[in-house]
Amino acid sequence: MAWSIREGVNFGAAIRAARPTAAEVAGRAWVYVPYDQLTAAAGPLAGADPATTGVVMVESAARPRERRYHQRKLALVLANERHFALEVAARGFRVLYLAGEAGFGEQLRGAMSRLEIPRLRVMEPAERGLREELRASGIALDVEPNATWLTTPADFAAALPARPYRMDAFYRYVRRRTGVLMAAGKPVGGRFSFDGENRARWPGDPPAPPRWRCPPDAITREVIELVQTRFGHHPGDLTGFDLPTSEADAEALRAHAREHALPHFGPYEDAMSAAHPQLFHSGLSPLVNLGRILPQRLIDDALATLGEGRMSLASAEGFVRQVLGWREFVRHVHRETDGFRADVTNPLGADVPLPATFWGGAPSGLRCLDTVVADVVREGWSHHITRLMVLCNIATLLGVSPRALTDWFWAMYTDAFDWVVEPNVLGMGTFAVGDLMTTKPYVSGAAYLAKMGDACEGCRFDPTGRDAARACPLTPMYWDFLARSADALAGNERMKLPLASARRRTEGQHASDRRVRLRVLDALARGAVIPADVAAPPRAAG
Ligand SMILES: Cc1cc2nc3c(=O)[nH]c(=O)nc-3n(C[C@H](O)[C@H](O)[C@H](O)COP(=O)(O)OP(=O)(O)OC[C@H]3O[C@@H](n4cnc5c(N)ncnc54)[C@H](O)[C@@H]3O)c2cc1C
Ligand code: SF4
Repeated sequence: MAWSIREGVNFGAAIRAARPTAAEVAGRAWVYVPYDQLTAAAGPLAGADPATTGVVMVESAARPRERRYHQRKLALVLANERHFALEVAARGFRVLYLAGEAGFGEQLRGAMSRLEIPRLRVMEPAERGLREELRASGIALDVEPNATWLTTPADFAAALPARPYRMDAFYRYVRRRTGVLMAAGKPVGGRFSFDGENRARWPGDPPAPPRWRCPPDAITREVIELVQTRFGHHPGDLTGFDLPTSEADAEALRAHAREHALPHFGPYEDAMSAAHPQLFHSGLSPLVNLGRILPQRLIDDALATLGEGRMSLASAEGFVRQVLGWREFVRHVHRETDGFRADVTNPLGADVPLPATFWGGAPSGLRCLDTVVADVVREGWSHHITRLMVLCNIATLLGVSPRALTDWFWAMYTDAFDWVVEPNVLGMGTFAVGDLMTTKPYVSGAAYLAKMGDACEGCRFDPTGRDAARACPLTPMYWDFLARSADALAGNERMKLPLASARRRTEGQHASDRRVRLRVLDALARGAVIPADVAAPPRAAG
């Protein structure tokens, strides 16, 4: 089935009414709004006159033909694009909405030549992939700075004039430059970061916020049907799809996050709960990355919640650091390194194929991993610590290829776009770019997971290792990781202590650690559940 808009019903009927006549085409300047710039609050549409400005949007089946995307991601993006087109039409803009099999650039080129549109205005796309595609298409574009960001390349260059790139230095610079959480040139509370105060385990109280659901309307249902028909073989499924698709939905979810999640964000930022995967995380990243919610709104919300006395300073600072710090930082690093084209050195030599268990349906027996994989397959989302300390940690301990893991994240998450998924997985999650943007690999054994989450309760393995017959394999795998990475990490200050501890292990322990990893890899390669005694000491003969 070729990708197209169904004429005459739902979206097809509504958007037809906004289509420009030949005279209306000629009398307007045309703005191309890519799939991730769905805002009229910033950029060329902010304050634009519908009598002189028109909007061009494109749906393309080319991307999902080349790369697998979670079905919820496809439905989320397409339904938001369609609703946005109708929202700007309702504000009086004429909308040229294209849909087809060809790529974005090719469809734009075709329409420009057919309708004699000489040039298009566009904000610089966040994704390197789209920037390259538009450049290659040769169409005449007037590219403007992307007004949805909070910082500029000049900020990044001023904060970090040379490699390696460090988020904390960038963040301090941006706090000073923007004045956010600053008073008389000093950070409010006397420190730029309160990270150390934001590491509590969640004891079950305060209760986790209820989930916010947006039932699909007729336009979204049509998109769901289209995705199911055309890309139903992609990961995930669309049963019970309840993601926000309109401006009103996005606002409602933002208000919900402000009311219920923000007040408790900080202390439980690193906590994990098998029963409540979202805990106090806002769940807004998919919408922020589509331009539906501007990052400045998130910062305003955190500052307002702090001002109302409903959020501690440590908590508000922690949230601001995610949005003003990490989010902006990773985007600059991606742009500055041209998407790490020359930087993926994979110093840890990780080259194991991604085990099938990551795609769901073949449980590993590691409850922490199986729980998060099930969440991701179902939702297309999980929070930061599960991404970092469960998925990336376990993949790194196994020695999984960072590229394969990155492609998995890209396929599975509704908020994945090249500028954000690549730095987070290649740079932060797997150390594939060495210390270019983080100081050390983020790895741990079972102790960290048992301390910060509740998945170990009810797991077939014992995280403490006291019950040797069912000791958790992640701890010996952690020791094995340190032993096999010792040379690559030798000069790393922050790894000195763990490497020294690993050196104190006996040859026999090293051999046993290595054997555990190989047995785990063997089970996963066969699609089998890891045996409960995989890390048990070998039984004495006789
Ligand atoms: C291995 C790995 C892969 C990741 N892949 C992605 C990805 O594909 N897309 C994505 O948007 N985020 C990614 N992140 C960052 C982070 O995990 C998500 O932004 C966050 O979990 C989104 O959930 P939330 O909206 O509830 O965030 P909250 O915890 O409520 O945080 C608020 C906001 O801060 C921003 N933010 C926080 N951390 C980061 C970060 N490291 N990079 C960019 N933005 C950040 C997000 O916009 C988020 O909405 C990844 C992190 C890791 C460790
Ligand atoms: S015991 Fe080990 S495998 Fe099981 S949930 Fe805990 S850390 Fe994960």
